[in-house]
Amino acid sequence: MTQFQPSDFESLPCDFCGADEPQLKYTKRGFSIVECKKCGMVYTNPRLNGAKIGELYDADYFQGHGFDTSVNYVKEVDEYGAEKATYTLNDWDSDTILSMLSGSKGTGGGARHALLEIGCGTGVFLAKAREHGFDCQGLELSSYAADFVRNMGIPVQTKSIEDAEHAENSFDAIVMREVIEHLPHPMESLKTIHRWLKPGGVLFMATGNYDCPERKLRGSDWFYFMPEGHLYYFSNRTMSKYLKKSGFRVVRVTNQGDMLMEMLRKYGILEKGHAAPRNLLKRVVFHSVRAVNHFVSSGMRIYAVK
Ligand SMILES: [Zn+2]
Repeated sequence: MTQFQPSDFESLPCDFCGADEPQLKYTKRGFSIVECKKCGMVYTNPRLNGAKIGELYDADYFQGHGFDTSVNYVKEVDEYGAEKATYTLNDWDSDTILSMLSGSKGTGGGARHALLEIGCGTGVFLAKAREHGFDCQGLELSSYAADFVRNMGIPVQTKSIEDAEHAENSFDAIVMREVIEHLPHPMESLKTIHRWLKPGGVLFMATGNYDCPERKLRGSDWFYFMPEGHLYYFSNRTMSKYLKKSGFRVVRVTNQGDMLMEMLRKYGILEKGHAAPRNLLKRVVFHSVRAVNHFVSSGMRIYAVK
């Protein structure tokens, strides 16, 4: 791991409420993870400055040799060919978004739903979403990762959310998988995303769940504490507050991480084309496992409607 200098760090007030009353909760690899005394938001402070953070997301990071060794986006691309015909969690997420959009007027006239993935990495989710009929495009800061997306014929801008130019009401769906915890200013970004969505459009996100039992049991050893790049740690409560403050009218925060959902997929409980299985027995299993997941999951799946 890179050695950092004091000049590599910056200290900021709470992104949610603006107070500068951090209370130390954990230390990890020399970083402090603090909780805002006023609103309860948990964040890394001080944190690496923008320039240093930019350096983290190099080719090594996307190959699983960066600060987060649990991801290997290049391997995902290699595996995509084999997984193309398999029903994966990415398929289920696409089906869930579609089920939410079909309840609204959508684009109508058989037009394809426009979907933007922010922080799309090497584009594996977008490739799957395209199979579900979405008209896809990506936003990705790393030009190394974006080249993989372009090679699949999917348009992608190599820009930050602040610099990207999208008109108001452009998208039916916006997706941010494991991204919001990396954003320097999530409130500002969520307001921008809200503007880009059409009325009735869906924001789907995945991130860690700060209130999970694993964090309570293991403290600073919780795997999700990666303070080099994970700047914010949301609970269901703080996530809901963020989404409401940034203008979303329907907010559903669920503790459905990948692990148990992957088990449901593996045992064929998930049904292609449906957010929830229609078969009664499968539906009972589906809801039971999700009820358990609610109490144990380290992850969060979030759905918000403009
Ligand atoms: Zn605060």
